[in-house]
Amino acid sequence: MEWRHFTVTLKTQEPFRIGALKDPLSGIDNPVTMIGGKLTVQGPSLKGALRAEIERYLIERYGSNAVMKPCIPSSANTLSAGENALIQKGKFKRGGNCEYKEAEERGRRGDQPHQGTDYICPACYLLGAQGLVGFVRVPYLFTTDKAETLYSVRIDRASGTVAERTNREYQIIPPETVFTGRLDVLWRDPVRNWELGKKRPLASTLTRGDAWLEASQWTSEKLCEEFIVNRLQAIHLLGGFKSKGAGGVKITVTETKSTSNPNA
Ligand SMILES: [Zn+2]
Repeated sequence: MEWRHFTVTLKTQEPFRIGALKDPLSGIDNPVTMIGGKLTVQGPSLKGALRAEIERYLIERYGSNAVMKPCIPSSANTLSAGENALIQKGKFKRGGNCEYKEAEERGRRGDQPHQGTDYICPACYLLGAQGLVGFVRVPYLFTTDKAETLYSVRIDRASGTVAERTNREYQIIPPETVFTGRLDVLWRDPVRNWELGKKRPLASTLTRGDAWLEASQWTSEKLCEEFIVNRLQAIHLLGGFKSKGAGGVKITVTETKSTSNPNA
C-alpha cells in the first residue's frame, strides 16, 4: 500500500467553542475535547467539515454532472423535508447515502441493478461509503497548549458576540491556538488494484461504482489537491457559535515527504 502523508495545521482565529452543548444546526457535536490531557479537535468533526466542503464544491462546480452529485449521508427514509427539497432541486443525489453491496447480497434483497443513482459519489469515494472504505484518513488534531488557557464566556446580549465573564456557561479556546495532525491519503493499493483518481474494480457488477471517474481526466495529484488539500484549506469555520463571533479557523495542509504504512 502506498500512502501519502500531509500535516494539517489548524490555527484558531477567533474564540473556539468547547463544551457539551449541542449545536443543532451543524450536526457536529463537541468539536473539541480532551484526550489524555490534551485538547483535541476530533477526527469525525474535521471529517464532517471536510465532507461539507466537498459537497458544496461538487454542487457549485460540477452540479451539471449527474454522477458527481453528492449524496446526503443518511438513509433515504430519514431525510428531512428540507433535504428532500434539495434533492428535488437537483443539488444532491436521489435516494440517500451511497451504499455498496456485493452481488449476492443484492440478489437476496431483490435490488434492481443499475438504477440511475446506483453510483458512489465523489464525497463517498474519498471519505468512504456504507460498505466500502475510501481513500482519506482524517486525523484527530492535538495542541500542546495547556488546558488552563481555557476561559469561559457568554454571548453578549447586546452585540451578539462572545463576551468574557466569570460564569462558566461555555468553555472556549482562545484565538491563536494551534492544533496539528497527520492526514493519510491512500495513493495506490496493488492488492485491490485501487489507485487514487481511478475507477475501482469492484466485485459487484451490479453497481456503476465510481461512475464519475469512468472517462477520468483526473490524476492522483490533481484529485488530491482539488478535493482534499484545497477543500480542507477552505474550512474557515468549525465548532459551535459560528454566527456569534466564534469558530474562525485557518487550516493549512502541507505534504510530508515520505511513503509508508499509516500505522508506521
Ligand atoms: Zn455518497
